[in-house]
Amino acid sequence: MVMNGTMEKIISLCKRRGFVFPGSEIYGGLAGTWDYGPFGVLLQENVKQLWCHLFVNSRDDMYPLDAAILMNPKAWEASGHVAGFADPMADGKSFNTMFKTSIGAGAEASATYLRPETAGGIFLNFKNILDSMHPTLPFGIGQIGKAFRNEIAPRDFIFRQREFKQMEVEYFVRPAEWEKAFEEWRSLMHAYAEVIGLPKGSVHELEVPESERAHYSKRTIDFEFEYPFGRKELWGLAYRGDFDLTAHQSSSGVDLSCADEKSGTRFIPHVIEPSFGVDRTILAILSSAYDEDELGGEKRVVLRLKSSVAPIKAAVFPLLKNKSELVKKAREVFTQLKKEIPQIMFDDNGNIGKRYRRQDEIGTPSCITVDFDTLKDETVTLRDRDSGQQHRVPIRELPKTIPI
Ligand code: ATP
Repeated sequence: MVMNGTMEKIISLCKRRGFVFPGSEIYGGLAGTWDYGPFGVLLQENVKQLWCHLFVNSRDDMYPLDAAILMNPKAWEASGHVAGFADPMADGKSFNTMFKTSIGAGAEASATYLRPETAGGIFLNFKNILDSMHPTLPFGIGQIGKAFRNEIAPRDFIFRQREFKQMEVEYFVRPAEWEKAFEEWRSLMHAYAEVIGLPKGSVHELEVPESERAHYSKRTIDFEFEYPFGRKELWGLAYRGDFDLTAHQSSSGVDLSCADEKSGTRFIPHVIEPSFGVDRTILAILSSAYDEDELGGEKRVVLRLKSSVAPIKAAVFPLLKNKSELVKKAREVFTQLKKEIPQIMFDDNGNIGKRYRRQDEIGTPSCITVDFDTLKDETVTLRDRDSGQQHRVPIRELPKTIPI
């Protein structure tokens, strides 16, 4: 739900509740950088893990990779980034958005760049994966990592940063099979939107017209999301032909072709590239989950996160803080449950109403309260975040009752 001032409210909630802090804040900040706090880290881990599961680990044609951020600068010349990775500036000049850095000291120092996308490292390891894993086409390589762009105008919270995270796949196919693979990845991207709880219909496809596509791309779809500041690119899906492997082959002199078993000829595979920004995904999740309502006559802020992405799945409370038998029992329930569900929290601060408000604000789907009846019958109250409704559940049934 998009409300007036939603961005300000989300940014303030993120800071207040330990999701995301402005980078270098005590020194007045550093534009385009943001630091993830404890709940932001947990939310981000969920986003990455669900991505890894759907796109890499649950498939037998996908290989994970973790390549270095620093790469030989020749790679960025071959890929066209040195010549063309530019932002037009207001006065009509263009500015390369790659961060230049130097390697080594003194006269020996040589210039290179912090990677502006994770995809580069995938192409450089294409041959290593062929030689070590012996995959047959079609197959893909997936990678999650940091990317850096010296954006002229970083803005909109974590939407446009100078240091951010990407989750990228390069899927290698026989040239004739690109359309089939493109369609498969296209529908998988929508499946991922559902897995992380983006509301149905909130992700819109924009078919990028030929005039706006990179010259080597025969088809590109931008996946756009309705952010509080407008409909903007969330993810991208591009058919890159054989552009990258051909460029790296001719620049490095290393053969990056595959053999065609039937004809015995060699060819350069074509590539489908689904590309996801971690931070833009998190912002889409936060802005669709943010809500304000009234519960029991009290106004509250609530993050209606799908349990799969919620940083904390359940919080355990003793009804009263000053009754040692309740605190002891609540600790026991917490310790027992934490063995099965690690993302749970214990809270005995303030009164129960305040504890509910805190958990609602961080999107915890379930709250468990240990009260005097618990001591008699081993049941607790289980409160649902969205409806505020409570019912009693036997302690032993908690692991299978709590949505995770
Ligand atoms: P935009 O047009 O918004 O600058 P882009 O088309 O340059 O984005 P890509 O090069 O396709 O972006 O990068 C792939 C993904 O990386 C994007 O879909 C987005 O999710 C993410 N991304 C790109 N730039 C940034 C940034 N500055 N901050 C955060 N995420 C980014």
